[in-house]
Amino acid sequence: MQLQDIKGLGLTTIKYLNELGINNTNDLINYYPFRYEIIENTDVKTIKDQDKIVVGGIVENIPSVFHFNRKLNKMTFHLNIGSLIITVTIFNRAFLKSKLKIGTTITVIGKYDQKHNTITANDIKFALLEKPLIEPVYHSSFKISSTKISKIIKTALNKIDIPNILPESIKNKYNFLNKETAVKIAHDPQNKESLKKALELLKYEELFIYMLKINNLKNAKKIDNGITRNVPYEKIENFIKTLPFKLTKDQLTAVKDIYNDLTQNKTMNRLLQGDVGSGKTIVSFISLYINYLGGYEGALMAPTEILAFQHFQNFKKLFPNINTVLLTGKLTAKEKKEIKKLIESGEAKVIIGTHALISEDVTYHNLGLVITDEQHRFGVAQRGNLKNKGKTPDILYMSATPIPRTYALTLYGDMDISSIRTMPSGRKPVKTYIKTNQQIKEVLYMMLDQIKAHHQIYVIAPLIEESEKIDLENIYKLEEKMTKAFGKICHIGILHGKMKDEEKEDIMNKFKQNKIQILISTTVIEVGVDVPNATMIVIFDSFRFGLSALHQLRGRVGRNDLASYCILISDKETKRLEILTKTNDGFKISEEDFKLRGGGDIFGLKQSGDMNFKIADIKNDYDLLLKAKEDATRFFESGEYNLEKYSYLKKQIEKSSNLD
Ligand code: ADP
Ligand code: MG
Repeated sequence: MQLQDIKGLGLTTIKYLNELGINNTNDLINYYPFRYEIIENTDVKTIKDQDKIVVGGIVENIPSVFHFNRKLNKMTFHLNIGSLIITVTIFNRAFLKSKLKIGTTITVIGKYDQKHNTITANDIKFALLEKPLIEPVYHSSFKISSTKISKIIKTALNKIDIPNILPESIKNKYNFLNKETAVKIAHDPQNKESLKKALELLKYEELFIYMLKINNLKNAKKIDNGITRNVPYEKIENFIKTLPFKLTKDQLTAVKDIYNDLTQNKTMNRLLQGDVGSGKTIVSFISLYINYLGGYEGALMAPTEILAFQHFQNFKKLFPNINTVLLTGKLTAKEKKEIKKLIESGEAKVIIGTHALISEDVTYHNLGLVITDEQHRFGVAQRGNLKNKGKTPDILYMSATPIPRTYALTLYGDMDISSIRTMPSGRKPVKTYIKTNQQIKEVLYMMLDQIKAHHQIYVIAPLIEESEKIDLENIYKLEEKMTKAFGKICHIGILHGKMKDEEKEDIMNKFKQNKIQILISTTVIEVGVDVPNATMIVIFDSFRFGLSALHQLRGRVGRNDLASYCILISDKETKRLEILTKTNDGFKISEEDFKLRGGGDIFGLKQSGDMNFKIADIKNDYDLLLKAKEDATRFFESGEYNLEKYSYLKKQIEKSSNLD
């Protein structure tokens, strides 16, 4: 069934759905909420100023409507909640006026302002709540709201049959719900108990298939038909001697690991993991060099234009004699054509770029090594594509999200792993402080010190994933605040996900060149971006982030020998954040993060951006992952999945030779 077959779905809406990555009904029903909002009546006696409020009552007067313009309006009315009459204001819902007759019973959901005894409502329901409502919240956009998405999915679900995928034996073992039932509940939950059961099945199923794929990959890799290269290690050593710094022990070990892989006929499939700033890039450059000396071309794919460009410049500086090209989506058609020609003929020995590297019309000459930087940022399908561009190229993935070994072995069960645990010497640990919003003045003074010292600062705006609109508002509010405080003495720039690539790049370049001193940003600030003169990062509402994510953000500073600071602003969960004030070791932090969240809350949906799971979260659902792993391995080894009745499952596993 196609999206246009869903009743009442127009082309414009379909376009908006496409923009969210929903291209067919299958995508649609797999578009799970990223969280659930549990709506239950608030105890009005204990409510505090600015708290969220859910309250039932009776409309007291005829609502008055004020139109700002054609689209924006404001409606106000009085709500009698028995003990009290409250003024309710709601924006842009003037169309509800005719339904809000005097005496109508409604429930208002919003934010309470004690001083003015008002509620700014974001939703109105035309009934009292008899039991708590569980509302799915979807990632949405400016153009299409979570509520609208929810409606569309519910309509679609009535029309679609969803078969069970798991083998009967496993379904019985855990007494799982039917897939169709589970999907329906996940999108339209009635109570917590059934929701929990539904999510359990959906998460398990996703993990089970993932683990089957790992088994399948491992199995496929037993063949030794990789590339060998005849490169004396001496040459590599000689190059290393010319570097302006000494490689750390872990960097050297990683280089050795990779050298061994590249010179033997086993195909390399290696993950290089290390904290931000631990120096993975140079290891990848040396790998490209080994590959080059062996007579093959190598490709390095970065997740953003900025990073690709940065790598390109640095590589050329280190290896001026190797013919290196940069291929990104930004080039003009003519430039692209020329570069593609160089790639096809084999004149280009090292190719650095964004995912333009894997576009269909790029043909490689003799591709021997494929490296993806910040691998978790790419869909796995994309990674697979680059690999398919060579015969049996060696693969190196780089990731700055350290994963404790046990987890890594489970998730990357088919890969070898090199870890860089030590930081280059001379690095000072980033001093980290936790401050509350009340202590903002102190923070501003700390910022002032940095600006006076001609250093630069990142300011990270609170992240509220469900609404880009609120995210933007937050950015602008911060900009206002910062301009008030520092506008006279320095330049302030903003960066957010809604900006065009060129605009982002322009801002980033200005920051790099110190034309901007304070950069206010959502978390889009590019992973891996290197601005050594930035010595402070201030993260608002830091409780909203996982520890590892905060640690990643913190890695933007402390990139040279200047003292650097990370200020975590939070009024909540300061206990959890304390670990960051105590250590700068990303591995330790991620272990702590796993521990804290481990065995967590089944309602917590996918959190980490590391893997491409739609619904499972490797941290929260680790126990489920272990079960799925064990079951999948047994199922795979029994060969049962070859049976006719599991052909659907088999197709899923073999659909891509990679994990997606
Ligand atoms: P990441 O692992 O986050 O990709 P980078 O490779 O960008 O880190 O390295 C961060 C910075 O550290 C770069 O400026 C790089 O030149 C420098 N660097 C890398 N290795 C060393 C080393 N052994 N000693 C000193 N500086 C190093
Ligand atoms: Mg990097």
